Amino acid sequence: MEIDGKTRICGLIGSPVGHTLSPLIHNTLAGKLGHNLVYVPFEVGTAGLEDAVKGAFALNVLGLNVTVPYKSRVMDSLVETDELARRIGAVNTLVRREDGYKGYNTDMDGLYRAMLSEGIRIEGENILLLGAGGAARAVAMLCVSHGAREIHILNRSLERARAVAAEVGAMAAGTRVYPRLLTDYDGLREDGYLAIQATSVGLYPHGGEAVITEPEFYKRIHTGYDLIYRPFTTRFMELVRQQGGQAFNGLKMLLYQGITAYELWNGVTVDRETAMEIYGRLEKKVGTDG
Ligand code: NAP
Repeated sequence: MEIDGKTRICGLIGSPVGHTLSPLIHNTLAGKLGHNLVYVPFEVGTAGLEDAVKGAFALNVLGLNVTVPYKSRVMDSLVETDELARRIGAVNTLVRREDGYKGYNTDMDGLYRAMLSEGIRIEGENILLLGAGGAARAVAMLCVSHGAREIHILNRSLERARAVAAEVGAMAAGTRVYPRLLTDYDGLREDGYLAIQATSVGLYPHGGEAVITEPEFYKRIHTGYDLIYRPFTTRFMELVRQQGGQAFNGLKMLLYQGITAYELWNGVTVDRETAMEIYGRLEKKVGTDG
């Protein structure tokens, strides 16, 4: 594209940002949709977060994504935070307004859209959620808000699983939420679960690892969704498939969290064909990089 006097800027703030796939998503979208927009990563040191947000606003930056370690802290620099992002306690997208930026969380919308695109439903499902960190907490909220039947939160630290279960359980109208240790799955039903892997175990370069490895656990799962997409096929996914289940990685979640952000910045709706074209490029990149 040709950069001229009307080119708008969007970007990513975080640390580190060197391996981000977001420029591929947003610059391809801008090209496909004919928008005069560029998206660039900004490495921001801990001491510079507030200045970075203020500076971006002063420089007329249209929107920003926010990644680790600033998803919570950035809320102090915003003029408003969307209700869902506030409940999740994390913001990954800043949208420019007249007086500053408003924060949103598009990660969960991204996960929901990714699941829908694979034909996975949450409504009425019995869910095994691995992990009780920031991502797992948001996933639990998503499952409750979309009417899951029951959620079992399995975590290394039972205390953390209990805290998430108590918080999310209080929001649940018809969903039952149970905290469990990772080893405590014997009493579960023999089959019929959707499992969502939301721990950081198995993330590149530790691709051969999974929080639970016993086949007895995986026999219970008809569909496994791993939030991790590096490596492209995680150990968790292999274990699900070995027991006859279908399994997906988190690359479509990444794609759709980006698409939702782009839609917020530009007031457009991205169609499925465009989304799939970008997905193809992401797949090639992750496949190549490992
Ligand atoms: P986090 O807050 O640090 O939570 C980490 C979770 O992993 C906790 O439940 C922790 O258990 C568990 N864990 C870590 N090491 C463990 C070990 N050795 N054995 C057992 N459990 C262990 O991280 P997060 O922000 O929730 O992120 C979790 C994952 O989601 C990351 O891999 C991230 O890449 C992925 N993610 C993907 C997307 C996407 O777009 N696809 C978006 C967001 C996040 P304890 O509570 O016991 O410590």
